[in-house]
Amino acid sequence: MHLLDNFAQRAKNYLAGNDDQRVFPLEESISRLKELDTSLQPDSIDPAEVLDLLDEIGSPATVRNTSGRYYGFVTGGSLPAAMGAKLMSSIWDQNSALTVMSPVSSALEDIAGRWLLDLFGLPPDSGFGFVTGDTMANFTALAAARHQVLKNVGWDAEAQGLFGAPEIRVIVGAEVHVSVLKTLSMLGLGRNRIICVPVDSQGRMIATEIRVSDEPTIICAQSGNVNSGAFDDVAAICQKKGKNTWVHVDAAFGLWAAVSSSKKHLVTGIEQADSWATDAHKWLNVPYDCGIAFARHREAIFAAMSASAAAYIPTDTTRQPLQFVPEMSRQARGIPVWAALKSLGKKGLEELIDRNCAQAQQFAKGLSDAGLTILNEVVLNQVLVHFGDAERTQQVIKKIQEEGICWCGGTVWQGKPAMRISVSGWNTTEEDVQRSLKSMIRQMKSCPPEI
Ligand SMILES: *Cc1c(COP(=O)(O)O)cnc(C)c1O
Repeated sequence: MHLLDNFAQRAKNYLAGNDDQRVFPLEESISRLKELDTSLQPDSIDPAEVLDLLDEIGSPATVRNTSGRYYGFVTGGSLPAAMGAKLMSSIWDQNSALTVMSPVSSALEDIAGRWLLDLFGLPPDSGFGFVTGDTMANFTALAAARHQVLKNVGWDAEAQGLFGAPEIRVIVGAEVHVSVLKTLSMLGLGRNRIICVPVDSQGRMIATEIRVSDEPTIICAQSGNVNSGAFDDVAAICQKKGKNTWVHVDAAFGLWAAVSSSKKHLVTGIEQADSWATDAHKWLNVPYDCGIAFARHREAIFAAMSASAAAYIPTDTTRQPLQFVPEMSRQARGIPVWAALKSLGKKGLEELIDRNCAQAQQFAKGLSDAGLTILNEVVLNQVLVHFGDAERTQQVIKKIQEEGICWCGGTVWQGKPAMRISVSGWNTTEEDVQRSLKSMIRQMKSCPPEI
């Protein structure tokens, strides 16, 4: 058999297991991974044998992200067109650093980037870069912010570094995602010198508490709290801008609310910000890894990410992908994004977002009908449910995970232990929701109540 037919057969078998296989692997499947931990043999072996081994031992130890009943970490499965496009681009093995290395990758990245700006209602001339995920999208956008606010006071951050530079005030909400803090630390802006603004019961930054001067300032807002799904009021935050303020929005999954007529009120005013970070591997359901950074000031992202000062202004009109991202050589991330959007169309994308939000409502209703407390206002696709004290909540979550029908993780929401349900997969069906709800309620009832 041709190796690719062998692969296709295995891929089909794997995906066919999504209905009846466990969502999280059994302990015994995980412990079989040890069989791969041999010393490297001296001789070459047949590639088919390598695939055999990978499928036999690797596949049973996967988390079934591709099933309709995985609700962990806001990660959705892969749309068929996106998965196919990713495989195609792997077959092509394109290097997407420069246009001359892959005209097709450059063209599709450019098209997909402009489609996204249009779908999100962001300024059409914004710059963008396709990176590994939302963390690197935050990094790229905040590097652009650092460049711009220092440039405005006559300091060249890329050339001169930060030693002796004018201070940048960085303002975040108390519910800032840890990835923003990580990027601030990587950018030399320091995760401990941030100014932290209090939040309300849903985790939204209280805009009236923001104090901005005319000094260089970066405000990091958030659209889509990773627990509650809540949105900062970006319009009100932008009103607070001083003479030299850059507003960045971490919108890993929340930005997708912009494509839905019933949800886009949540992102009112986001187009007034200066930069935005989002993930395609979350709600657009493209395979990992794919995030996108956007910045209104195309030159700022370019200046922060270009390899040399000489290349400060693009000399020709061809967009060179490496001038907008931290990496040079990298995979063709625009291709699965293009394919996902092309296959869904605007209506299909809106239906995906709306369907997942409706399913989140079903979870919330089913669980509260069973007497449980929902801790958040379910405005999007996130549901936080409380099973009692920390011990009982952990116990119920563990039993739900062990049963293997669905998978949800635990979290702590404003001091209360909770289970988080994130519905963000194209293939979650009505039946998946009902089966998962039954499992959750069954396991909850099987745990002794709090004393
Ligand atoms: C998921 C998430 C991130 C991190 O995204 P990665 O793609 O894992 O890098 C950052 N911020 C928010 C709000 C998120 O939901």
